[in-house]
Amino acid sequence: MEAKTICTAGEDTICAIATPPGMGGIGIVRVTGDNALQLLQALFHREPALSFAEHPRELLYGHIRDPERREDVDEVLAVYMPGPGTYTGEDVAEIDCHGGAVPLAEVMTLLMKSGCRHAEPGEFTKRAFLNGRMDLAQAEAVMDLVSAQTEEAGSVAVSQLKGRFSAEIQSLRAGLTDLLVQIEVNIDYPDEDIDILTDTGSLSAIRALREEIGKLLESARKGKILRDGLRLAIVGKPNVGKSSLLNGLLRQSRAIVTEIAGTTRDTIEEMVNIKGLPVTIVDTAGIRPTEDAIERIGIEKSKASLASADMVLLMTDVSLPLTGEDRDLRNHLPKVPCLIAFNKSDKGIHLSVEEREAFAGELPYVLISLRGSASKDETWTNSESVERIEDLIYRMATGSGGAQEERKGPSTGAPSPVAFPSARFPAASAAIVTNARHEAALRRADLALASALRAASRGEPPEILEIDLRTAYEELGFITGDSIQHDVLQEVFSRFCLGK
Ligand code: GDP
Repeated sequence: MEAKTICTAGEDTICAIATPPGMGGIGIVRVTGDNALQLLQALFHREPALSFAEHPRELLYGHIRDPERREDVDEVLAVYMPGPGTYTGEDVAEIDCHGGAVPLAEVMTLLMKSGCRHAEPGEFTKRAFLNGRMDLAQAEAVMDLVSAQTEEAGSVAVSQLKGRFSAEIQSLRAGLTDLLVQIEVNIDYPDEDIDILTDTGSLSAIRALREEIGKLLESARKGKILRDGLRLAIVGKPNVGKSSLLNGLLRQSRAIVTEIAGTTRDTIEEMVNIKGLPVTIVDTAGIRPTEDAIERIGIEKSKASLASADMVLLMTDVSLPLTGEDRDLRNHLPKVPCLIAFNKSDKGIHLSVEEREAFAGELPYVLISLRGSASKDETWTNSESVERIEDLIYRMATGSGGAQEERKGPSTGAPSPVAFPSARFPAASAAIVTNARHEAALRRADLALASALRAASRGEPPEILEIDLRTAYEELGFITGDSIQHDVLQEVFSRFCLGK
């Protein structure tokens, strides 16, 4: 990859603490730029003195010493890595300090006193991009990987970082280059070559490109959920089993469960991993009219969390008749994908299939039993039910179809196993769009190609077609950063964390 000509990297040397704040075994200070070696050498103290230039890529033991006070501020391991074979493509120094705020701050202060500048968020990766170490989509994958919440999200980010997605975009651009060359020939020698406007080969090549873009765009919905996750609100009148479901989902969750800051007493938020989807579950603790002022606050919050939900699960007790409260909740579901869980099927099923179908209307539903999930008495029925709900949520979230199959569930007794394919995201095997910026550029490229096809069908001159194809080419280039927009670069890298 070639270095970008707008490159300003290397003009100054920057430093940042690359490890998260707080106490830890080690904390790493990273330095990149032309003066990395000189700075490290000036602050590093060891008897007898050692030249980093003579020991590149070797981790050396010593101390960082304040040259003015002639006092050691930390005992460290340090390494010098000459460019261009480094993360940023420049000379890089890394200093492994003791992992506390004070030694790290002191090392940073010394570096800055020596003329080093504090890096902006994402500046290391930005330099990697500007120096041609990675393209823009790969740079964005770095951030996705750092912030990935599930293994699946991480594996998509790694694949993007390796250039899987960029390769797909480059191949689309190569297809467009071929077409553009042909048009140029057409324009320059109108009589000699085939006429691109009537050449079925060229037109079908444009259609094929649109098809490829279409496939990528289709993956965007999954990609967005995979990266950002979704918010699922569990609603239902008191005592139907909402907390039991939450507990079941937490127990079955295959990822680290993180408690989300800002959790209130009236709505509980937990993050679970449902087949690779990071799902934030909001247990809304029952929404119902009340005279009690405090409870009313809880209800307002519940309504707010319902409004912010991407999906809603309404739970009822199938062993009892439906109440006005159930119907009220059913009638006030927001306009997002919703599903219904008829719980407590082990206690006997009071609602007939017709009643359940009438209540669910067009919504998919499951008949479940979460018996024992709130106590120690866990039975197969419980985990089976949780799995059915997970399957349904996954299918609805990813649009992998078959949500309606659930409607054919058993009409009596405990839920019987329903064969769901354990579909996962095609993480490693296919390019997947996880980024809204990429999606928007793909859409614009697709519009330009559609316009090219229309121009061809109207018999417009090849120059018109060329404009559209060039637009598509440029748009795809925005994804990889081959076409450069300064404001986009600014926007992309400003979202990074410090030291990355
Ligand atoms: P919430 O108020 O909607 O959160 O309901 P909980 O999850 O606290 O459940 C209320 C009670 O119903 C608890 O005693 C649960 O153990 C019990 N329960 C939950 N699900 C089932 C079920 O499927 N069958 C039976 N028999 N009891 C259940």
